Amino acid sequence: QCVLVGEEISVARIADVPIEKLVGIVCTRGSPFSHAAILSRTLRIPAVMDVGNVLFAELEGHRLLVDGYQGRVFIEPSPAVLEEFEQLIKHETDLARELEGLRDLPAQTPDGALISLQANAGLLSDLGSALSAGAEGVGLYRTEFTFMIRDAFPDEDAQTEVYGKVLAAFAPRPVTMRTLDVGGDKALPYFPVAEDNTLLGWRGIRLTLDNPGIFLTQLRAMLRANAKHGNLQLLLPMISSCKEVDDARELMQRAYSELVQGRQAARQPSLGVMVEVPSTLYQIADLAKRVDFFSVGTNDLTQYLLAIDRTNARVARHYDSLHPAVLRAINHAAGQARDLHKPLSVCGEMAGDPASAILLMGMGIDALSMASPSLPRVKRALRAFTRGFAQELLAAALSVEDAAEVHRLLEGAFEQRGLGSLLGGGGDLGQRQTHP
Ligand code: PEP
Ligand code: MG
Repeated sequence: QCVLVGEEISVARIADVPIEKLVGIVCTRGSPFSHAAILSRTLRIPAVMDVGNVLFAELEGHRLLVDGYQGRVFIEPSPAVLEEFEQLIKHETDLARELEGLRDLPAQTPDGALISLQANAGLLSDLGSALSAGAEGVGLYRTEFTFMIRDAFPDEDAQTEVYGKVLAAFAPRPVTMRTLDVGGDKALPYFPVAEDNTLLGWRGIRLTLDNPGIFLTQLRAMLRANAKHGNLQLLLPMISSCKEVDDARELMQRAYSELVQGRQAARQPSLGVMVEVPSTLYQIADLAKRVDFFSVGTNDLTQYLLAIDRTNARVARHYDSLHPAVLRAINHAAGQARDLHKPLSVCGEMAGDPASAILLMGMGIDALSMASPSLPRVKRALRAFTRGFAQELLAAALSVEDAAEVHRLLEGAFEQRGLGSLLGGGGDLGQRQTHP
């Protein structure tokens, strides 16, 4: 068993280690909102980011205890500390066993509201845990992970094969696949982009529209993979204007026509956009004329609304998706989409936090997509709170002035119902931790 220790560990490096051997991740820098942290959460590997200066040579060969809940690392822990953590692990295992009984039950509130719980994935190895957690589909498949673990761009056939496996694993359930979203902390080693401000730069749809060859190859692969089961929903990342959607649709149409002309089997998917750049909040109606669904990316939406670089550890303590401004933004988008009869789901990390999920349910959001290890706890929480109560809680959360008060409100509501343990040995509520 090994704990991977490094300065900033990338998604590609994590994927390099045989998963059955990897039991912990420790980064001296890095942020709990980075994609490496998201991947570790999906893989259920405790991770601690930004531990500061550590002499790597001093760690080699030592026994480490990685407490992802509190963000602590113990070197050669004492027997008393070990015992305390063994208790915590036992408690977690008991809770997980108890929640297993919910696997085939719906995420239905006591007053009858049904929420579809879906999984986020990015590597083929994620699919097994998503299926065994009882996910009703894949709400976000991050295709860039496939690109990040390779040495060169995968060609059309290689992509078709990967996408085909994902679609087949979940058919007839829907799979929402996002087109390549590189940039920021998702760099491709074989396509370097040197920029001072990568998070405001050549990211997501901007990069793919500027490189139609890369985009068309991916679109063709997706449409081909969709021919068999027809359960693909295509999602565009980092949309900030209607023109980007029009251009992407045109390329999708072109990819489809080329495939049909070449007598290749292909099927067109439904199309959606991520709501993660603040400008989209004010153009929901314009975008709704062009797409079939919306998916709120709370990770980037929080980053851009609060102007906090999600990869910068120095400001990580200010990053909070329960900031009242973020809640008001999501609530606004949900209300607009409902009025326009367009489905809207949430696929950022917030959806996997049981307490936040109650607020999202109170907003009338009917589909949440999360790292699959979070799914049982979220389901348990949703089955305990009525939509009526969630709406009251939401009204209270929307009327306070800062995130700390929202946290207090939610913690109080969970404690009152005896559900404090769902928030874990820290849970994700504090948002400083990276453990599932
Ligand atoms: C998001 O921004 O919330 C999201 C789901 O996408 P990513 O974390 O990959 O940017
Ligand atoms: Mg995003």
